[in-house]
Amino acid sequence: MKKETEAIHTRFQSSDAYGALSMPVYHTAAYEFEDAATMADAFCGRIDAPDYSRVTNPTVIYFENKVKALTGAADAIAFSSGMAAICGTLMCLAGAGKNIVTSRHMFGNTFMLITDTLGRFGVEARLCDLTDPEEVAAATDGNTCCIYTEIITNPQMEVVDLQKLSETAHSRNIPLVADTTMIPFTEFSAKELGVDIEVVSSTKYISGGATSIGGLAIDYGWKSFSDLMRKEMLMNLGAYMTPHAAYMQALGLETLSVRYARQSATALEIAQRLEGHPAIRKVNCIGLKDNPFHELASRQFGPTCGAMITIDLADRDACFSFINRLKLIRRATNLFDNKSLAIHPASTIFGNFTPEERAEMDILDTTIRLSIGLEAPEDILEDILHALQHTDNHTTALI
Ligand SMILES: *Cc1c(COP(=O)(O)O)cnc(C)c1O
Repeated sequence: MKKETEAIHTRFQSSDAYGALSMPVYHTAAYEFEDAATMADAFCGRIDAPDYSRVTNPTVIYFENKVKALTGAADAIAFSSGMAAICGTLMCLAGAGKNIVTSRHMFGNTFMLITDTLGRFGVEARLCDLTDPEEVAAATDGNTCCIYTEIITNPQMEVVDLQKLSETAHSRNIPLVADTTMIPFTEFSAKELGVDIEVVSSTKYISGGATSIGGLAIDYGWKSFSDLMRKEMLMNLGAYMTPHAAYMQALGLETLSVRYARQSATALEIAQRLEGHPAIRKVNCIGLKDNPFHELASRQFGPTCGAMITIDLADRDACFSFINRLKLIRRATNLFDNKSLAIHPASTIFGNFTPEERAEMDILDTTIRLSIGLEAPEDILEDILHALQHTDNHTTALI
């Protein structure tokens, strides 16, 4: 079956009392047992039966099974947010005295998790340029618990060579962990590129329409990893996905490939139309042929480029005035909603970092991040061009 078919026809583990065609939402904290022995078997993992919804729930398992079918993973574990999935994964792999080899080009909260939060527990963050295999190799040692990367950094849009990174990792018996939120797993196989553990914010593409917060840790064969994740992290962190979120996100998965195809095509079209606009210093979109990461990205992720693009204007004031003049595109964080969204990362997501820290992370005051939605491309473009006109009196519209 093709992935879009698989995404729709995942079967329930056992039949529903009423033969519901849609997976019911099992809003229950606990489950009842026939007798004490069955209860003991369920609690000790000897039989596959839910016991308590902090660690297992039929609706969440249904969502996890859809993800397993789509990725071919050994296991997929759903968390209450992308950050919870990342935190659970890193807490599972790391410990005092261990180090994580990663980059400064990183989602702000992940960066703070690794450097500050895990740092307080004696985990060392080794920050290097993940696009430079020699630097990565030099940063690893016997205490490296993983190499952690994002497949397309946000908002810098740097693309790492996953195969090269995995060769470095595997030659040292270190797992490669990749945050793949930027390109959905229906489009490419992280496993084939050598990723051992994939983490995803399912809040973004998967939820669809930004209905709910969620995260996934997807295990490609580090079986002891997913066992520990379920036995220790789900139990002790208490950040399993809720059944309601799982219901919405399973529904989101069913339409993911259709939404993604449309959104990424529109994003590329808009990037192409904005290139050369006099008010814009730079359009950053990996789908553009002259983008330095275009070839590597198409080799790894296929012909699509994702639905996030950035534009750089003259300065922060120009960015604020552009954002204030948008009429259709919403002023909001989040990515890959059905609605187009705009944000100024430097003053929001990275607003609590010092200017020096932002400079080190290549977060510029001139950058606006756009997440392109499902609206008609010409309406989105018209909104952008209109907002740009007022940032520079000499601008002439392109349409
Ligand atoms: C949004 C995001 C996260 C965090 O996910 P939440 O679901 O918001 O907790 C992590 N990584 C990337 C790349 C993201 O875009």
